[in-house]
Amino acid sequence: MQTISILGATGSIGQSTLDVVNRHPDLYRVFGLTCHSQVELLIEQARLCQPHYLVVTDPNKLALASDLAKQAGLTAQVLDANSGLKLITQADDVSVVMAAIVGAAGLLPTLYAVQAGKKVLLANKESLVMSGELFMSEVNKHRATLLPIDSEHNAIFQCLPADYQYANPKQSGISKILLTGSGGPFLNEPIDTLINKSPDQACAHPNWQMGRKISVDSATMMNKGLEFIEACWLFGLQPENIEIVLHPQSVIHSMVQYKDGSVIAQLGNPDMRTPIAHALAYPERIDAGVAPLDFSQLTDFSFCKPDFNRYPNLRLAINAVSAGQYASTALNAANEVAVDAFLRGRIAFTQIADINRSVLEHTASEALNSIEDVINFDQRVRKQTQQHLTKVA
Ligand code: NDP
Ligand code: MG
Repeated sequence: MQTISILGATGSIGQSTLDVVNRHPDLYRVFGLTCHSQVELLIEQARLCQPHYLVVTDPNKLALASDLAKQAGLTAQVLDANSGLKLITQADDVSVVMAAIVGAAGLLPTLYAVQAGKKVLLANKESLVMSGELFMSEVNKHRATLLPIDSEHNAIFQCLPADYQYANPKQSGISKILLTGSGGPFLNEPIDTLINKSPDQACAHPNWQMGRKISVDSATMMNKGLEFIEACWLFGLQPENIEIVLHPQSVIHSMVQYKDGSVIAQLGNPDMRTPIAHALAYPERIDAGVAPLDFSQLTDFSFCKPDFNRYPNLRLAINAVSAGQYASTALNAANEVAVDAFLRGRIAFTQIADINRSVLEHTASEALNSIEDVINFDQRVRKQTQQHLTKVA
């Protein structure tokens, strides 16, 4: 029996995680759940899985959550972020932590789990993008087990040899990682129409049901850029080891090409319950409730190169890897602010990449030697981006 805490339980990944966990009451017990604002949903989730703790990170929603928990007759204690996040990620009883808070807010709670040496299922790619080497050295120092939930990274993990040499990928006979991406909802739209795309159009992903931030990132392909950086850190890769391949059907979730010419791919219907179930049960396999792939229905199976004119964010992210940690951290911070402004109707879709580029150009390189440095730098770049927004929005 494994005991799990789910950070960001009310989000898209959180809900899919609970769906898999609730299918296997004999294997998993829920210790703690967190939400930010959706307290009604959190209480509904708690009724089903009866956790010990509920953590509400939005202070304005805490009293309501406590009232609702009482009304529902729950035994769970309702805690705020300060008293709850460390407790539910570090308690001795907890063996697995799903890190599925969106954005930079996920960094510290994910690190708490890492520092307690837990099995950490990493959905929150932003935390790794922000703090790369520092994050990975905490994983190694505390002997945490880090398993990727991002479907591409989970696919790559499944396609790598069991004795993969993280410190020297070439020694494992690998010639290239082929990171696939759908191209999002605007893949075939004329580039000059992108300026008029609305938040709802950007969030209407053709294959995946996701939260709004990552959906916009998929439309701009910043998501693939963040994944490019994530893959470098997770698998010890250099930018030249990774090729981005557009595959609009999202059936192949990524591939590993070996020097003898073999390409090993992981395929499946686009449903996040597959990578979640894989990481939860690893190295075993469990039922995820996902329909099996029907090859007779796969009439269209296509691939192409991404067009950087359509997806300028992608180039910014790839260049950030070589520029150094400050560039990845700055890009992630600027992007979070710009995407939020787009979702609130303040800026046009194409301004997201313009703002990201401009903020990066005006941010000087600096060493980020600690997590504190990362957080302070992230906050400064956010302020700078907000100031920039007041000029262009
Ligand atoms: P959602 O927006 O659906 O959910 C985000 C979760 O984080 C919710 O539980 C939300 O709470 C919580 N949250 C939001 N803001 C804060 C905050 N300031 N402090 C603490 N918690 C907060 O996102 P997704 O589930 O789509 O994505 C989660 C993470 O997983 C992201 O990092 C994303 O990149 C990654 N990911 C997602 C995939 C997907 O298919 N969705 C695929 C691969 C990676 P509430 O809703 O209660 O306000
Ligand atoms: Mg992904």
